[in-house]
Amino acid sequence: MERELDDILHCPCPSCGAQLQYSAEKEAMTCNHCGYTEKLTLGNDRIEELDFNRARTDTEHTVERRLFSCQRCGAKTVVNYDTPTISCGFCGSQNVNPEATKTRLFEPQGIVPFRISRNQASESFKKWIGQSIWAPNDLKNLARLDTLHGIYIPFWTYDVQTHSEWEGDAGTYYYETERVRDPNGNVRTQQVRRTRWWYRNGTYDQFFDDVLILASRQLPQQTIQGVYPFLLDQVVNYEPKVLLGWESEVYKVDPQEGFAVAKQQVDQRIESACADLLSDDTYRNLSVRTQYANQTFKHLILPLWICAYQYNGKTYQFLINGQTGSIDGKRPVSFWKVLLAVLAFLMLVFVLVTISGKKKRSNYGMTVPTMETPVVVKSTVSSLKFDVVSGMKKWVGEGSTVGG
Ligand SMILES: [Zn+2]
Ligand SMILES: [Zn+2]
Repeated sequence: MERELDDILHCPCPSCGAQLQYSAEKEAMTCNHCGYTEKLTLGNDRIEELDFNRARTDTEHTVERRLFSCQRCGAKTVVNYDTPTISCGFCGSQNVNPEATKTRLFEPQGIVPFRISRNQASESFKKWIGQSIWAPNDLKNLARLDTLHGIYIPFWTYDVQTHSEWEGDAGTYYYETERVRDPNGNVRTQQVRRTRWWYRNGTYDQFFDDVLILASRQLPQQTIQGVYPFLLDQVVNYEPKVLLGWESEVYKVDPQEGFAVAKQQVDQRIESACADLLSDDTYRNLSVRTQYANQTFKHLILPLWICAYQYNGKTYQFLINGQTGSIDGKRPVSFWKVLLAVLAFLMLVFVLVTISGKKKRSNYGMTVPTMETPVVVKSTVSSLKFDVVSGMKKWVGEGSTVGG
């Protein structure tokens, strides 16, 4: 494969010539070789909202970039250093001599630099893994430091002015006294709630600012929402130097697709606002027609620590928000630990049943436990199983729904 080194960013150390990297700890460019540190001052005066209607033809804010695709999961990353091997941050697999392709892409308008360092991230990970009593014992060794990746994840943000016309029926409750005959043939009175419906309509105007939409397909929107929020008031001008020493994923969701997702979220918020306007005690037949204007968008990249590891042939991901340190992820559940816990519980139940059976026998001279005892025990066992299973679902279940 032909290497094109010209688009690899070089930022040599003025004191020793080694490549400088961006340090999350120092929030500065640093040299790992001689310890040189250079403060980076990043403003926010160049963060521009782009015209959404020009997105398809925009050549002013797009550049040609060299991308590497993961051979296993297809994640596309920009790598800012020359390397024969790339370990994929999303699935943990090693790619030797990854193939590079050139694509025209929107340049990020803004970035939130990493604040959480590798050491902080790995400490949080160890703590988090240790918290689960159901996690297999060998997991701690498996989640090694080299599986921890600091990756800038692509996002779109959208602004839109909306004007909505809504109509429907508002409902007001009132009560009537009714005479009813009960099963014994006696007549008595009771209060019955009824609803009076009346037509209502109106308009609703709202400006939506910075609706944040994930532009990656490697992480489901639901997964990343586990480490929300990102503090977007701290977004600074995009500066390629900040990426030195870090990976950055390239967006796969284009601006149009991202807007469709943003529009769903906006529509939901409009609908619930209109429902509030329509409703008296209740409402029905709400219909909303919305016009969208002044749509703008921008491309942001936000910091995320990802630990992707394989356990029993399944990929697990653990995430840390690189700005705030907020943690979320999935842990494998040890089959043996769960089985042992269930067996131990059943044993305990058996002992209790035997004891209470003996007590009953000594009290009443009966040879079998009464009916209540096994019934109570049964429901306790099934509720434990339910907890274990739902717990497993929470940790193991694949989240792939886009929403929220
Ligand atoms: Zn140096
Ligand atoms: Zn991969």
